[in-house]
Amino acid sequence: MRDVAVELRGQGGVTLPATLQITSLTDRARFKRALKTSGMLFGLALASLPIPPIHWILVPGFLIAAVIAFFVRMQTNELLGGHVNCPKCQASFPLESQPPTWPLDLTCHHCKAQLTVVPLP
Ligand SMILES: [Zn+2]
Repeated sequence: MRDVAVELRGQGGVTLPATLQITSLTDRARFKRALKTSGMLFGLALASLPIPPIHWILVPGFLIAAVIAFFVRMQTNELLGGHVNCPKCQASFPLESQPPTWPLDLTCHHCKAQLTVVPLP
C-alpha cells in the first residue's frame, strides 16, 4: 500500500489537498474480487430465469456481463481508497474502492458538489 498526494477541485476553483491510498492486489485477491462480481451477475441470471418474457434478454445479458466482468476485474491490479474532504462543505466521506484513473470525478456524499481529483506532481 502506498500513499498518493492528490488535489480535490470543486466548482468555482476551490481546491483542497488530500492523501489517498493505492493498494496493490495480489493474484489471489484479484481472482477473489473477479469471482465475487461474476458470481453476483451469475446469481442475477439465475434469479431472472422464472420471469418470462424478459428472461430471454436478462439471462444471456447477465451471463455475458459475468464473463466480461471477470476479465475486466482480473486486469485491475491496483485499487484506490481512503477518505476525502469536500472543498465546498468540508465534510469527509469514504472513496469507493476503484482503479486509480486520473482525473477522477466524484460527487460529494453530503452536498452533491461535483469534484475532480488529480494527482499532485
Ligand atoms: Zn460537499
